[in-house]
Amino acid sequence: MRTLFKHGTVVTPDKTFPADLLVDGERIAAIAPDLPADGATVVDGGGTYLLPGGIDVHTHLDMPLNGIASADDFHSGHVAAAFGGTTSHIDFAIQPKGAALREALDLWHERARGKACIDYGFHMTIADPTPAVLREIARLPEWGVPSVKVLMAYKGRLQVDDATLFAVLREAARHGLLTMVHCENGDVIEILTREAVAAGNLGPKFHPLTRPAELEGEATGRAIALAAVAAAPVYIVHLTCDLALQQVRGARARGQHVWAETCPQYFFFTADDLDRPGFEGAKFVCSPPFRTTRDQEALWEGVRDGTLSVVSTDHCPFNFATEKVRGRDDFTKIPNGVPVIEDRLSVLHDAGVVAGRISLNRFVELTATNPARLFGLYPRKGALAVGADADIVLWDPKRERTLSARTHHMRVDYNLFEGMTVRGAPAGVWLRGRQIVDGDRFLGQPGTGQFLHRDRFAVELAP
Ligand SMILES: [Zn+2]
Repeated sequence: MRTLFKHGTVVTPDKTFPADLLVDGERIAAIAPDLPADGATVVDGGGTYLLPGGIDVHTHLDMPLNGIASADDFHSGHVAAAFGGTTSHIDFAIQPKGAALREALDLWHERARGKACIDYGFHMTIADPTPAVLREIARLPEWGVPSVKVLMAYKGRLQVDDATLFAVLREAARHGLLTMVHCENGDVIEILTREAVAAGNLGPKFHPLTRPAELEGEATGRAIALAAVAAAPVYIVHLTCDLALQQVRGARARGQHVWAETCPQYFFFTADDLDRPGFEGAKFVCSPPFRTTRDQEALWEGVRDGTLSVVSTDHCPFNFATEKVRGRDDFTKIPNGVPVIEDRLSVLHDAGVVAGRISLNRFVELTATNPARLFGLYPRKGALAVGADADIVLWDPKRERTLSARTHHMRVDYNLFEGMTVRGAPAGVWLRGRQIVDGDRFLGQPGTGQFLHRDRFAVELAP
């Protein structure tokens, strides 16, 4: 099957240029002016941009948590992602206590089986780092999983101590893996949380107050220092504040192999949103929490100056009426996480590109190219180039969408950006040469999304 995109404008991290783009089978076969149709199906790209399919490297689909699971599974989450222009994502397989990493990976493969409509990969979250598990890290790349994650928060559940963080960093680096770190000081958060509960401070607004930015800045600096000593590359997940940003900026200026991501929601919301009337604030409970408008400005600066390399979502939806409500009388019982997988490109385009903060080229770099470079998918994905997978978004920069739970495709009863009208949305989406979204119609098929067996981390490809 061949498809020819005529009259479009191709966007790469370096340039924007008018060209035709020919897809043959699952790959891009040619990008040049005035390509002949020669029997190919012709798609008129006039007035639109051709972007590489979005890659979201931080998601939690069907994630088990205290007897419930995040509301989107590998079907509904994929449909929603596709409507938003995302054609690949990397989810976190989380090691259950006592389990081998291979068992955890098998569990997550099972979750995706028969459901996937876009391509997907896994990172491995190490939650129970026994000596045998640390030895197992060496095998992850041969299973297509060249990245591990450790958490410095969630004491008693997922948090690892400094010795373990250091051991993981060193072992991962030795075998060509990139270590991702959730940076918050879980020990101090635990104290502040216990004190808040004892004082009867139980509403959602106490969630950010018990996880102050200083504790993210401190943990980010500590992770970076341990990575330097371990001679390991490190990737800071969901960075939210200026204090953490300064740590990353300083380390990168010293030439250390440090990268960081933020998520769109951190540009839009502050701790004040946790204090909305009634229990509405629970909709905004995620960790690290929303900060201040000053931090938002710092994040935009970080995106502009290259301190931040990726914008992913940390998509982890829980229904307000049935799940968030578990914490009505105690914010510590509100399941953490927000729904974003569908809206990532549109909200970043509107607040970033339309508002003049970043170029369309930088937008592509943050949402597709850099994620592919850092996580072993480049040049197969993340760029429009001859030989690459034909994951293509026909992006209409003028198309307006009003974001709402009534119209979104995520399987969750609220939209974080409810009522917000944004400019920029996909007119059509193709996954490996096959159209999966046409305007408001979904054309994808469950079971056609493929597991992404990713390459080992390569510093020479990293941004
Ligand atoms: Zn996460």
